[in-house]
Amino acid sequence: MKSRFSLSRTLAVWAVMTGIVACGSASPTTAGQEATKAAATEARVEKTLFGKTADGTPIELYTLKNAKGMVVKVMTYGAIVTEVHVPDRTGKMTDVVLGFNRLDQYLGTHPYFGAIVGRVANRIARGQFTLNGKLYKLATNNGPNHLHGGLKGFDKVVWKAEPLEAGGGAAVRLSYVSPDGDEGYPGTLSVTVTYTLPGDRNELRIDYGATTDRATPVNLSSHIYFNLAGEGTGDILGHEVMLAANAYTPVDDALIPTGKIEPVAGTVMDFTTPHAIGERIARVPGAPPGGYDHNYVLTSGGGTLALAARVKEPKSGRVMEVLTTEPGIQFYTGNFLDGTLTGKAGVAYRKHAGFCLETQHFPDSVNHPNFPSTILEPGKTYKTSTVYRFSAD
Ligand code: BGC
Repeated sequence: MKSRFSLSRTLAVWAVMTGIVACGSASPTTAGQEATKAAATEARVEKTLFGKTADGTPIELYTLKNAKGMVVKVMTYGAIVTEVHVPDRTGKMTDVVLGFNRLDQYLGTHPYFGAIVGRVANRIARGQFTLNGKLYKLATNNGPNHLHGGLKGFDKVVWKAEPLEAGGGAAVRLSYVSPDGDEGYPGTLSVTVTYTLPGDRNELRIDYGATTDRATPVNLSSHIYFNLAGEGTGDILGHEVMLAANAYTPVDDALIPTGKIEPVAGTVMDFTTPHAIGERIARVPGAPPGGYDHNYVLTSGGGTLALAARVKEPKSGRVMEVLTTEPGIQFYTGNFLDGTLTGKAGVAYRKHAGFCLETQHFPDSVNHPNFPSTILEPGKTYKTSTVYRFSAD
């Protein structure tokens, strides 16, 4: 069954509970409606059913498309981005994000493929912190530490979705209310994440928002794994990376920040000029399994949308720039991928099959007063934005 639930001059949103809808298949009669129909063939959102959770909750999949042919798919489970199709230098479209074909695979164990992570992205040492004189103990899910929101973080909950008008583009806003005490965190936190695909540019914009009724740490990020040659095509060691960061936050063997902020100059951590990921990866300090898994301190300092990273895959020519309002970015080279998970193309994801550029406040900030604060107070609004911009050269 097909039903149209929203139309505007610039964006047509079509809903179906199962199957793909043919865009522009309604029969507009007025000039305005004809214009709507024209726009609808360029930018649109389609809703399909991706599957059901064990308790029967339907999981929706939203497909965003723009006039340039870019496609982004997002589902309500974990607010997960399941597919991003962008052109190479010849115009050939490929899916550049790691993930699965089926919901049951996402419901199983996996390393946050495409998900929104929160309340607090990355690690909190020993899963605890003190706020306003009170000790909070969080769920621990990474040895003795708390990682990406705990045992049931925002990557494992079902979000509500609402397609939006996006000025010629396509957008979907996902929202979730995290109850007081969720994974040990204080306060009821209302979160929104809006994914926007502009009509005229190949970029995925993520706008994060949150409000709370009690002071709580918040640090939301997207955990998309990219491989700009196409997911399932091998490792990302040949990708050339530039990071707009003169410093990083060193970590101990459990990947907990020491609290220091160290310059990258003269070390294998320096990506202020482009380097292939594989060039110096064997010399990255730290415990096995080895590779980059570090928070970089962006020179922008955060606050305004600024270039944080540029990645080029030389064979396809695909380029991805990351812009963010955040002060930090986690550069993670898929070190823990070990070939046990098989992706959309039927290929096992081995070590370094993808990389993440997770825009964020610094890991474990809540235990490091010298790091920018992650505390959201009642009456204040958490607001950050990140753009993944694609081109080819
Ligand atoms: C962390 C890694 C972790 C991965 C989970 C990244 O954000 O930095 O240490 O293993 O997420 O898959």
